[in-house]
Amino acid sequence: MALADGGYQVGELAKYYLPGGTQIETPDYEQALKETSVLLQKDEVVIYEAALSFGNLFVRVDILKKSGGRIEIYEVKSKTFDPSEKSLFWKKGNADLLANWRPYLEDVAFQKHVATCAMPGVPVLTYLMLVDKTAICDTDGLNQKFMVKKDASGRKGIQVSASLSFADLKGPKLLHAINVDGECAFLYSEAADERGLDFEGRVKLFSESYENDKKIMPLISKACRGCEFVATPEDLAQGLKNGRVECWKSLLKGWSDDEIMGPTVLDIWNYRGKDKLIEEQRLRLTDVTKDDFKIKPDGPGLTQSERQWLQVEKFQKHDSDVYFDHEGLMAEMSKWRFPLHFIDFETSMAALPFHKGRHPYEGIAFQFSHHQVSENGKVEHKDEYLNTNQGEFPNYDFVRALKKSLSADEGTIFRYASHENTFLNHIHSQLLADSSVGDKAELLDFIQSITKSKSDVVKEKAWEGKRAMVDMLELVKKYFYAPDTNGSNSIKYVLPATLQRSEFLKNKYAKAIYGAAGGIPSLNFKDMTWVQLKDGRVLDPYSLLPPVFADIDPKAINLLSNEDDELKEGGAAMTAYARLQFEQMGPEEKGAIKRALLKYCELDTLAMVMLYEAWANWA
Ligand code: SF4
Repeated sequence: MALADGGYQVGELAKYYLPGGTQIETPDYEQALKETSVLLQKDEVVIYEAALSFGNLFVRVDILKKSGGRIEIYEVKSKTFDPSEKSLFWKKGNADLLANWRPYLEDVAFQKHVATCAMPGVPVLTYLMLVDKTAICDTDGLNQKFMVKKDASGRKGIQVSASLSFADLKGPKLLHAINVDGECAFLYSEAADERGLDFEGRVKLFSESYENDKKIMPLISKACRGCEFVATPEDLAQGLKNGRVECWKSLLKGWSDDEIMGPTVLDIWNYRGKDKLIEEQRLRLTDVTKDDFKIKPDGPGLTQSERQWLQVEKFQKHDSDVYFDHEGLMAEMSKWRFPLHFIDFETSMAALPFHKGRHPYEGIAFQFSHHQVSENGKVEHKDEYLNTNQGEFPNYDFVRALKKSLSADEGTIFRYASHENTFLNHIHSQLLADSSVGDKAELLDFIQSITKSKSDVVKEKAWEGKRAMVDMLELVKKYFYAPDTNGSNSIKYVLPATLQRSEFLKNKYAKAIYGAAGGIPSLNFKDMTWVQLKDGRVLDPYSLLPPVFADIDPKAINLLSNEDDELKEGGAAMTAYARLQFEQMGPEEKGAIKRALLKYCELDTLAMVMLYEAWANWA
């Protein structure tokens, strides 16, 4: 996670803004406390990863500064903020904290609580150190001066280049310390939560439960849908436990394990009434009625509420048939021009800018894949791009390669979700602000020709390109629903569900034609059979790919992925990019990661082709 979101680099950079400190290296609690206590004897001191304790409470403080008889606590986060935003952490009216900031503020408030108890009478000030997304870096290659390395015990840390100088950091600050004492005071004084506990009550509950190894009674919430404690049948056989069964069993009387692990109201796609249903203890899909959805037909295609009810209704009626609006989809297809182009991007964000003049967390587009389908049905993996060269800003080359790849004809271009459109909008803005690009005008024209402008990204005149990409996700939402997807519209779920139901795909891809002589041309596969059966079911094609990393459990990588259709499980690709940029690794390891990235991205666009083929040949 830290690699993917730049946490390591930001954490290390923060120390340069509060320099001259002593690092407490040891992970041992007692030793860390001892070393911190010795340093705190001084009147003026800065300590990195200071250890403090009170009773059975223990914290490690990112940066602790003792000065003028007071303690300052700095919690460093790789989260961005805009300094022009007023009341950054507060909801409108300042009556409550924003939910997305709450975990960070609670973290600091806890550290302040422990520090205040441990050092009574000493004023403790608290700061969140955040990344200023508007700051412009005035150093070249800052990013590459913070490399990730492993120590002898395998712990990851940052190795700062000897070439990093004070001159590199004297320009506009990329990180700012924001005082959060007011927010801490708010958290301490907050009314009791749903357990009837205030801040101190929660601290007591958690610490006593931890000390006595006592289970804390869970609260069912929307978060349980993405519970991270997932156990496969193999895991269960080894004695591991399933989070949802462990938690829900004690709360839901009469529920079987299968019911607990099966679809519930938490799975209803994009449904905003989940909290209310949980509160009313209506968790079974059979507890929901049509009246729970304010159904508003607004053709063509399904509206959100119609689709939500369709999902519930199919479950209630044990109807596993696919919903397919043939007429609606054919009307859409009649507008498409051959050859059809299916594209997918992999992107990342670099916490520290690669080049002078760039902002923190600017978007990096490092990979695309492109499949083409001709009018006669011929499928080919037409093109791809991958640039993970260390220290290079790939975006303009990426657009040049994409332009070359798509400019041979005027065929319709497809994306899955809005990511490709959003990202090209970002690169459009980057280009506009950059006077060093010779072919800037052509690149801007090309981007405008295949995108729609996004008002939150583009401040200039709006546009809609004459070849603006068609979003297949929107087509899925309107015209296609497979109960096997359990309400998820991510292509990772839609593809296996479609393969399971499409006779056309089953017949075509059950043969080793992909990447075969005389078969479907592929840039990364040879003689691949995509439809493979196990117990009569088609295996998920993604499960046929090799893992991206030899040294990371694929399940851990999945936790980085977001269920969100927008992100489309991009966690593995983002992590791979970060590792290729910042980790010291040999050419073999690098090669293996790149080969895996190419295969995954190729399958992403092949999945879109398969979806198109299934629709075009639906019987
Ligand atoms: S099921 Fe998972 S997410 Fe829900 S309370 Fe239990 S551990 Fe947390």
